[in-house]
Amino acid sequence: MIVIIGGGISGLSVAWFLQNQGIPVRVLETRSQPGGTILTSFQQNFLVEHGPNSTLQKPGSPEDALGRLIQGLGLESRLQVANPLAERRYVLRDGALKPLPASPPAFFLSPFFSWKAKAQLLLEPFRRRSTEEESIADFVRRRLGAEFLDYVVEPFVSGVYAGDPEQLSVQAAVAKIYALERDHGSLIRGAIRQGRVMKGAGLPKGRMISFDEGMGVLPTTIAQQLPPSAVQTGFKVTALEPNPQGHWRIFGTNAKGRTESLLAKAVVLAVPAAAAAGLVAPFADRAARALRSIPYAPIASIAMGYQRSRVSHPLDGFGFLVPRREKMPLLGCLFSSTLFPNRAAADHLLLTSFIGGSTNPAILELADQALVNQVEINLTRCVGSMIPADFIYLTRYSAAIPQYVLGHLAKVQAVDADLENFPGIYTRANWRDGVSVADCVRNGERVAGRIVADYAGFFHLKAGQ
Ligand SMILES: Cc1cc2nc3c(=O)[nH]c(=O)nc-3n(C[C@H](O)[C@H](O)[C@H](O)COP(=O)(O)OP(=O)(O)OC[C@H]3O[C@@H](n4cnc5c(N)ncnc54)[C@H](O)[C@@H]3O)c2cc1C
Repeated sequence: MIVIIGGGISGLSVAWFLQNQGIPVRVLETRSQPGGTILTSFQQNFLVEHGPNSTLQKPGSPEDALGRLIQGLGLESRLQVANPLAERRYVLRDGALKPLPASPPAFFLSPFFSWKAKAQLLLEPFRRRSTEEESIADFVRRRLGAEFLDYVVEPFVSGVYAGDPEQLSVQAAVAKIYALERDHGSLIRGAIRQGRVMKGAGLPKGRMISFDEGMGVLPTTIAQQLPPSAVQTGFKVTALEPNPQGHWRIFGTNAKGRTESLLAKAVVLAVPAAAAAGLVAPFADRAARALRSIPYAPIASIAMGYQRSRVSHPLDGFGFLVPRREKMPLLGCLFSSTLFPNRAAADHLLLTSFIGGSTNPAILELADQALVNQVEINLTRCVGSMIPADFIYLTRYSAAIPQYVLGHLAKVQAVDADLENFPGIYTRANWRDGVSVADCVRNGERVAGRIVADYAGFFHLKAGQ
């Protein structure tokens, strides 16, 4: 059996892809339900996403493990693709929401950017490559200029990582963008070539997806389709021990508060970095130190419902992002009921706002009502919503999203190098190789593939006995 510690989407994906190959699995999850950060609940006829609201799927791409998972689970009929209006993304500029130009011609025609920013973009293909690890901010300033950083990249980085582009590593946090410079010498040249390759292969563009009952459908369905008792909730793993016979002994406390132990051929650590550090510290000190040094950003997500007539903005887009230069204590807001149907009670709208992040962690020290007040006041300035909201639901995370800061790839390498001394332990969670739900599924499929390659013989032998 392979034991997977952590029943978030990373751990569940590993489990599902392994089980599909006939390898028996057990997922141990400390909370009372599987899904980790992915959690959907229904409150007063509003569909509230406590964590992710959607994820980017690239149908047809070889990397589309999420598509393979959805198909394997038979979830196509429950899939929702975001409203085409989601192509429009607003950014706060000079105190007002403005649509970000969505195509190169629109970029040059729109008054959103200054002539200086437009000229800098034209010069991008002629900028030299860098050979050193850079922060996202340095990389973007060097290639595209400060205005592009302030009004496009910085707000998008806070939208994905709730992070600070001055701290995040371009190689680790936006590896695909970094690869455009590395492989093509220019972001524009690289994007054009990639676009041609995709068009030539007939691949559609990526699409934002969710499910009829929200993102929670994905982990819930995986857990339901794994064999009974393959997912054990309420089980907190407290220790791990490699044993000389080439097995792992896993100790933990079950839902009844009793200590239990299990034996596994291999273990997958699919838990946040701090939890993984605690488990490997007794035998892999270097890995534990590297894991502990991965910072996380705190965040609060606030769902607010309004009667339609109480919001003046048409909410005709994905939502809006707030650049730090605008000095508004809000990271951004999703127009949730525009994106997908059935998010709000009849005649109501649902907005989901984010506040905090690594650029403004102090604001999360505010009590719930004060935090809600901040969000309401700023939403009113942006979308003309009346105060108070008709419905409010607040979710706080003290450690929401891992920050791939400068030196992150070296940390991940240190973890791998140390754990290589202990055969049969794998790590797979959002602190490495991407934070999105789709990244976690793709990485789960990859690690499952590695385990199959490493242990196919063992399990085949067992099955034949
Ligand atoms: C507010 C928010 C909004 C987001 N929005 C988006 C979005 O719109 N789109 C997108 O693609 N991504 C989004 N993300 C990112 C994405 O949701 C996460 O990166 C992803 O879900 C993480 O999955 P995971 O399995 O790696 O980790 P987790 O979900 O953290 O799962 C780890 C699991 O391990 C369990 N665990 C920990 N310690 C132990 C232990 N000792 N024993 C047993 N179990 C243990 C935990 O209880 C948890 O369930 C968002 C994240 C947050 C916080």
